[in-house]
Amino acid sequence: MKKSLIAGNWKMYKTPGESVDFLKKLAMETVKYNDREVLVCPPFTSLYPAAEILKDAPVSLGAQNVHTEKEGAFTGEISPAMLRDSGVEYVICGHSERRNIFGENDSTVNGKVRISSEYGMSPILCVGEKIEERKAGKTFDVIRSQVENGLSGYDRPDMLVVAYEPVWAIGTGLTATPEQAQEVHLFIRQMLSNLYGRELSMAVRILYGGSVKPENVNSLMRQDDIDGALVGGASLKLDSFMGIVNYS
Ligand code: PEP
Repeated sequence: MKKSLIAGNWKMYKTPGESVDFLKKLAMETVKYNDREVLVCPPFTSLYPAAEILKDAPVSLGAQNVHTEKEGAFTGEISPAMLRDSGVEYVICGHSERRNIFGENDSTVNGKVRISSEYGMSPILCVGEKIEERKAGKTFDVIRSQVENGLSGYDRPDMLVVAYEPVWAIGTGLTATPEQAQEVHLFIRQMLSNLYGRELSMAVRILYGGSVKPENVNSLMRQDDIDGALVGGASLKLDSFMGIVNYS
């Protein structure tokens, strides 16, 4: 059975000390679920101590970014080998904050998706339209191009996770309705099916992200093509994150 994936993206929050405190509590609260996987993506500086805390806990570890090259003179960047050696299993690639604040384009995102898998880490390819694109009726065009370009030449659907995160719903308190989210998730599933075949596409987890909270997670998770959640703000507090992890 495909496990759902509930992932916390901590963004630029929590020092190593704060991360360790949080993860010790999370590790005690999280039981081993048969039907869901729990993932946290702390800042780079917390990854190594986080891996130590989580080594016997049923909580996976992810990074929020990676560089596209194996190594080199790239001051301030983090290589895939550095992440892998720190115990990282997942990498968020092309989060809208990376695209819109730091200027990442589809080609950079594609490089990150590919190199993550090369180093044995599952990429979480983030896609999503801006509010003006939705209002102009361009949602599906944007998603098509981000998925097509983000996965160009990518041949490891078995490792892939995709996150649909409408930009207008991230950190705004606005959530896509379950129906709006499902419609885009189904579209992504069909694209994956065209790229990799139906069976492999069904195994890819497609997460929804954008102001997910304990109050709205159940109705989102009941949708056929929503296989999990990528959670920002609500993943920073134990109560709200556990309220999402324990969706029913
Ligand atoms: C995110 O950062 O990916 C996100 C979805 O944030 P939030 O849950 O705060 O909207």
